[in-house]
Parts: sequence; C-alpha cells; structure tokens
Amino acid sequence: MKVDYDYIIAGSGLAGLSLLYRLLLDKDLQKKTILVVDKVKKSDNDRTWCYWEEGESIFEGIVRHKWATLQFFSPEVAKTFTLKKYRYKMIQAGDFYRLVMEYAATFENVTFKREAILDMNEKDGQSILITENKQYTGRYIFNSTTLFLPEMNTQNTLLQHFMGWFIKADSPVFDEKIGTLMDFRLEQQHGVTFMYVLPTSSTEALIEFTLFSESTLEKEAYNFTLKDYISSELGIKNYKILHKEFGVIPMSLAQFSKTIKNSERIVNIGTAGGFTKASTGYTFQFVQKNVSQIVERLKFQKPPVVDDSWKSKKYAWYDRTLLDVLLSKKVTGRYIFESLFRKNSPEKILSFLDNDSNFWEEFKIRNSVPLLPFMFSGIKQLLLKKETKD
Ligand SMILES: Cc1cc2nc3c(=O)[nH]c(=O)nc-3n(C[C@H](O)[C@H](O)[C@H](O)COP(=O)(O)OP(=O)(O)OC[C@H]3O[C@@H](n4cnc5c(N)ncnc54)[C@H](O)[C@@H]3O)c2cc1C
Repeated sequence: MKVDYDYIIAGSGLAGLSLLYRLLLDKDLQKKTILVVDKVKKSDNDRTWCYWEEGESIFEGIVRHKWATLQFFSPEVAKTFTLKKYRYKMIQAGDFYRLVMEYAATFENVTFKREAILDMNEKDGQSILITENKQYTGRYIFNSTTLFLPEMNTQNTLLQHFMGWFIKADSPVFDEKIGTLMDFRLEQQHGVTFMYVLPTSSTEALIEFTLFSESTLEKEAYNFTLKDYISSELGIKNYKILHKEFGVIPMSLAQFSKTIKNSERIVNIGTAGGFTKASTGYTFQFVQKNVSQIVERLKFQKPPVVDDSWKSKKYAWYDRTLLDVLLSKKVTGRYIFESLFRKNSPEKILSFLDNDSNFWEEFKIRNSVPLLPFMFSGIKQLLLKKETKD
C-alpha cells in the first residue's frame, strides 16, 4: 500500500517530539519518512517539566537543575529527605523543543507542517490525516492533539491548576541543593493547595502555587498567594519575577482510548492517550515510557498499540481510587499526603507514584491512608471498570 509517509505525528508537544526524537535516535527507524503536524510552532518556553528518575536519560543534557534532597511540609509534618535512587529534575520546554527540532533538522526524511488538524481516519490499510489544507496518508498516525479527548466534567475530573513564578532575589536566600516538593502550610478552602519551591541557584527559584479543584481561580488570587508566601514564608523582600507560568492539567477518571475510531493505525500518545497520571498530573516520565515502547514495537515490525500490563492496570486502579477519594471530598488531600509522608519513606512514595513499587511498599502505603474512604472508592472504581468492560 503506497502512503505519503511511514509515520505521521499529529501534535508536536511533549509526546509528539519525544516520539520523533526516539525514532530518529534509532538506527533501524531513523530513515523512515515522518510528517510532523502542529497548528503552532513549538519554540516558546511555555512550560517547565519536573519529574524524577533513576540514572540519566537521553534528556540529561538539557536538565536545568536536579535535586537529591527534597522537603515536605504540612502543619503536622516537616520532613527533609535525601534521595538514594532518584533525582528530582527540571527541564524547560524551550530547551526540549530546541534539542529535538535541531536534531530533526539534520534529517531530510522529516517534514514539518504548521496546519490545524481536523480529523483522522483509516481506509484500505492507510491512516489518513485531514488538515485545514490537505489530506496526508501514512502507515501510522500518532495523535497527541486535543481533538478526541473523552468527555471531562466536574463529576469525573479535578483540575490541577498552578501559577509558577521564576524569581531572582537580590541576595543569596536559597539552598539550591534542596527542593520543596509540597508545602501544605496554606489555606485549603479551594481544595488541595500547596507550593513547590525549586531553587536553581542561591538567588533563583521556581515558586509554584498549585491546587487540585473543580475550577481555576481568578489570576489575581494566584498572584496574591505567591506574593504573600514569598514574603511571609520565605522571608524574601526584594526580588524580580523573571518568568511566569500558568497551567491546567486535567486529573481525570474519564476513559482515555489507546486508538482513534478503533483503528490500530491511529494511536493516541501523551495526555490524549491517558498518560497523564490521574492522581498527580505527572506526565513526563509516563510519556517517555510509552513512546519508548512504541519505538521498540515498530523496530520489530509490530503494531504500535501497547497493551496494558497487569501492573499498569493495578496502578491505574490506585490512581482512580485516590482521585475518587479526592473528588468525593471524604478526606482532604492535605490529610492524605500528610499521612503518606508521615508513615512512609519519601523515596518509596516516589517509587509508588512512578508505578514502580514492590508488594510490601504498596502494602505499607495502602495502610497509611484512611481505610474506609479508600476501600469504598477502590471498590466503586473496580465495579465501574467492570461495567465499562461489559
Ligand atoms: C504549564 C504546564 C506545566 C506542566 N508541568 C509538568 C511537570 O512538571 N511534570 C509533568 O510530568 N507534567 C507536567 N505537565 C503536564 C504534561 O507534561 C504536559 O501537559 C505535556 O505537555 C503533555 O504532553 P502532550 O504531548 O500530551 O501535549 P502537548 O505538549 O500539549 O502537545 C500537544 C500538541 O498538539 C497540538 N494540537 C492540539 N490540537 C491540535 C490540532 N487540532 N491541530 C494541530 N495541532 C494541535 C498543540 O498545539 C500541542 O503542540 C505540565 C503541563 C503544563 C500545561
């Protein structure tokens, strides 16, 4: 079957460009013809990705800063912990887009188009991408656009919304070796509410005011809380704001599909494929794992739809359970995270949140959260899952 391209990548954000980069790094796949379509040119530093990992990945060269020591604060718990296995890392989107685009520019078989995508179909063994200008055919389409997202509403979705300020203080005030993962010493009237403090030098840090709730706040409310926290909690009076970042990540119980229109040739990746962790919003590492598996499958001429392992189904159930507890408001998020950090080694919590814990670690984590609401939500989510399967 003749096609215009071997692979079409629809959406060139985190997932699309991660897939492109990994395809081009692979000796067996780097000569394939690849079309990348996005409605915008990705070059702005439009977000900051934080994640944790063991060792180094192909993105180590653009890691802006990493922390081996993290802190957790709530009114009841204050913990500083040094990581053994993991490092908590920060990458800026501008560096990521530049890295991948510059590498891709050295390949003649990669074509970029700036067009709005309208639809995708499969016909006669070809996948077809329909844009505002044209139709393109490919062996496979990898979709990370927002065109086919499942319905999200206040019943099934919490919004993780945040305003981050990169600030520069006029004197050394930070210890750049220590990052604050969560500081819950804030009013919780809107839902789960905490601050990140991630210093990149003794004078510079990303301070991010983060909430999980049904709706976003007025912009002024984020600015007010950040200003107040920087001055009252951190004691910094003189500083400049270098950069502001606002974001909304859906944390959802909605069913994300692996494919579009049941076609094995049109595969969802990124947030569109359900790779945003429902209970935390972390996406970066889950995208990397998924696109690596896709590349591995393509290399061995296997269809690129990655089936859920038993392990990933189990973690999806944990995620849905935690999110269900948060949505039902039976226990506050602050209490849940406080209980987790009080009773578990923080590194084990990170393993758990990375879908990488062992039986005993999970057992301990399950035992450190309030039994009844988690049992109720866990059973509810199991039954709902069974219903959607039937
Ligand atoms: C500000 C911000 C900060 C974040 N921080 C973190 C973090 O610290 N750690 C973490 O793990 N996750 C984080 N996330 C969550 C997640 O990692 C990002 O949202 C990530 O960019 C998702 O990758 P993606 O490829 O699925 O979507 P995107 O990166 O958004 O890419 C989708 C692309 O599709 C394009 N597109 C959409 N519709 C169309 C269309 N119809 N036609 C053509 N093109 C289209 C868009 O222009 C976009 O370029 C953050 C998200 C935001 C918004």
